[in-house]
Amino acid sequence: MKVYFLGTGTSQGIPVIGSNHSVCKSKDAKDKRLRVSVWIYDENYSFVIDCGPDFRQQMLTSGCTKLDAILFTHEHADHTAGLDDIRPFFFKQGDIPIYAHKRVIDNLKKRFDYIFEIENKYPGAPSVAINEVISNQNFVLGNKTIIPVEVMHGNLQVFGYRIDNFAYLTDVKTIEAGELEKLKNLDVLVVNALREEPHSTHFNLEEALNFIALVKPKKSYLTHISHLMGFHEEAQQKLPKNVYLAYDNLEISI
Ligand SMILES: [Zn+2]
Repeated sequence: MKVYFLGTGTSQGIPVIGSNHSVCKSKDAKDKRLRVSVWIYDENYSFVIDCGPDFRQQMLTSGCTKLDAILFTHEHADHTAGLDDIRPFFFKQGDIPIYAHKRVIDNLKKRFDYIFEIENKYPGAPSVAINEVISNQNFVLGNKTIIPVEVMHGNLQVFGYRIDNFAYLTDVKTIEAGELEKLKNLDVLVVNALREEPHSTHFNLEEALNFIALVKPKKSYLTHISHLMGFHEEAQQKLPKNVYLAYDNLEISI
């Protein structure tokens, strides 16, 4: 199984529009971060977690040509705003399966009403096949069992997903003990770390590292990173062994 980091930035992306911050001005490709998403694939399946405003660019850059499903973590725009750009996949493949919490599906129905329209639908609009993700109910995608892991983004429930010994958690601020049980014996954990300064709804670096120390995966990658984390190369130097800052277009094999 391959995991391709389509985007590793926080909600505004890096560079931030109009910013003179040195990280936003950096020439290092690893300091350019699109909105957070991963593409997970092998010869049997190809799906993404989240579909943010950079989705089109991410599909072109990664070379993804088949989309079996989109798994949503939550409804915030940096994770969902690219949904219209599934059109080329829809034209080739038909309805694109989406997996999300009922609350997220209801939110998408409001914001992308034309996608969910049944009567008098505009011919160019894409369609999706709705699959509700329910806490503590695993589901199967291709030949993989997906384990939803519930985390809290401030007061908002968010799903992370475990697939084999890989787990992807974004926008975490807190997690309950019962959900932590689902993260035992991981080879690779991806988790959000915004910046060094604390934040009300996202792990800062210290919280992310404490979480990693608790979960004890073999390797961890940090994502959903703000320009305030500093330059990639410098921030990476400060991390413990087997903890890495993810960067856009990094691909790992699990
Ligand atoms: Zn986010």
